[in-house]
Amino acid sequence: AKSLGKNRVSVYDLEMNRLSEARFSLEQRLRLALDRGELVLHYQPQAELSSGRIIGMEALIRWNAPGASGLVPPVEFIPVAEECGLIVPIGQWVLGEACRQNKAWYDLGQRWTVSVNVSAAQLMRSGFPEEVRAVLEQTGLPPELLILEITETAAVRDLEHTRRMLLDLAQLGVSISLDDFGTGYSSLGLIRQLPVKTIKIDRSFVQEMTDEGGNGAIAEALITLALSFGMGTVAEGVETEEQRERLARSRCAAIQGYLLSRPVPAQTITKKFAGG
Ligand code: C2E
Ligand code: CA
Ligand code: CA
Ligand code: CA
Repeated sequence: AKSLGKNRVSVYDLEMNRLSEARFSLEQRLRLALDRGELVLHYQPQAELSSGRIIGMEALIRWNAPGASGLVPPVEFIPVAEECGLIVPIGQWVLGEACRQNKAWYDLGQRWTVSVNVSAAQLMRSGFPEEVRAVLEQTGLPPELLILEITETAAVRDLEHTRRMLLDLAQLGVSISLDDFGTGYSSLGLIRQLPVKTIKIDRSFVQEMTDEGGNGAIAEALITLALSFGMGTVAEGVETEEQRERLARSRCAAIQGYLLSRPVPAQTITKKFAGG
């Protein structure tokens, strides 16, 4: 029994070593990825429900990793980037690239907003509004065409800090969207104190808007709530015509999801939607 125990320990150590090695190399590879230009943004259109008109794009990151089959999705590297702090330089790159691309669409005559996902670690840095200001200046993108998406959980982590930060950003003319709304546990009274322009209705609530017994009551309640706060709404993960109709009846302002388009490379957006 003793030798078996010993054996177990060494197997365990070996396993731990292997795991941390995997983590280390992912971190290292991600660090190189940024320098080597392996990170790419795909864009997913958002449309106004009343008119069907395209009003904006959400920028979503992917990793063109050497040796990987296809693009690596963000769930496989964003959590690691957040843990090791790489999310800060990655987030800066995303912000610059999304603004540069949207300025190119602007120059083609489009007046789309571009929505950029911002992690809690980026939001906690006191210099963040200044970084945003510098990017707008460098790219020439009008500030009102930039939307920063922050999650409810990140926003309430340090509410007073977040409030000051968002007010500084609002001063620049940039707007804030609350992502994954309804999935956290924050008080609605708190959310109301933040200068948030739109709320994104999480895909999980949109999915419930189906014929087969799903009642979609939460999505409807969140839309009503946002309206009463004077905030706009974007429903995410809209896949079916039926969901679109129910959202329209609930007075949701805009939709995003596979029904319109999957996230695609910028050139595809230019060809399909920007008359390029
Ligand atoms: P999110 O911000 O909630 O983004 C929406 C996700 O839903 C995207 O997944 C998108 O591809 C997917 N989606 C859109 N429409 C549909 C639909 O109709 N059906 C289904 N099933 N899915 C749909 P993606 O691109 O894999 O991104 C996952 C998450 O990774 C994002 O969730 C966001 O939290 C994070 N992420 C993506 N890009 C960035 C980034 O540049 N920075 C940071 N910090 N996080 C990012
Ligand atoms: Ca988002
Ligand atoms: Ca979301
Ligand atoms: Ca989501």
